[in-house]
Amino acid sequence: MREKLVVGNWKMHGGLESNAALLDRLAAAAALAKRPLGVCVPFPYLAQAQAKLSRSNVAWGAQDVSPHSSGAYTGDVAASMLAEFGCRYVIVGHSERRHGHGEADAVVGAKARAALAAGVTPIACVGETLDERDAGSTEAVVLRQLDAVLGAVASDAKRVVYAYEPVWAIGTGRTATPEQAQAVHARIRQVLSRAGADAATVLYGGSVKASNAAALFAMPDIDGGLVGGASLDADEFLAIANA
Ligand code: PEP
Repeated sequence: MREKLVVGNWKMHGGLESNAALLDRLAAAAALAKRPLGVCVPFPYLAQAQAKLSRSNVAWGAQDVSPHSSGAYTGDVAASMLAEFGCRYVIVGHSERRHGHGEADAVVGAKARAALAAGVTPIACVGETLDERDAGSTEAVVLRQLDAVLGAVASDAKRVVYAYEPVWAIGTGRTATPEQAQAVHARIRQVLSRAGADAATVLYGGSVKASNAAALFAMPDIDGGLVGGASLDADEFLAIANA
């Protein structure tokens, strides 16, 4: 059964005081929200998210994880550490990491596998740049990125949450139309089906707002959203969850 889900990606935003207000608000409102909610926060705020959300319906998680389980990897954070802080989710392969930190498909796959091994659900992001879309290679790029994750997680493909995030729609205010997003989601779903992952959740991400969420979420292969900027505003984020 595909879970309907809305997850916030705070990126590198926040501070103890503003987080507290946002987390308290989400915790109080989540019981009435139409879809389960999650927030992926910067590493230093995981303890705060755990303290504020552990008695609520809101799940929390991180935005990256090491592909390694432990060792001399300065700056890395192991999946087992995320599990100790109660993380349900970790984002892997976000385009800001693929493009800003040179993360290759194989690394993204290894991160997804490391997360699963620690009992943390990876939210594996795939998506094409504008140049790739204009060149007609959207499907080739998305399926190549997806295959790398599926190859790494093998029979655990159904335990991964997938997110289609066209890079040209992230933080740009330019959302894929519901039809554009649905077309890619349908292709992703075909591939997931062949991998025995019919039950996996596939989120859309890219400038999701309260005003466009209902139309996106009405598409048959879109199970919810991965929400960046709009997740920093409690009213907007809750409106998306209820869209
Ligand atoms: C994201 O960071 O995953 C994202 C989708 O950002 P935004 O909603 O701001 O486009």
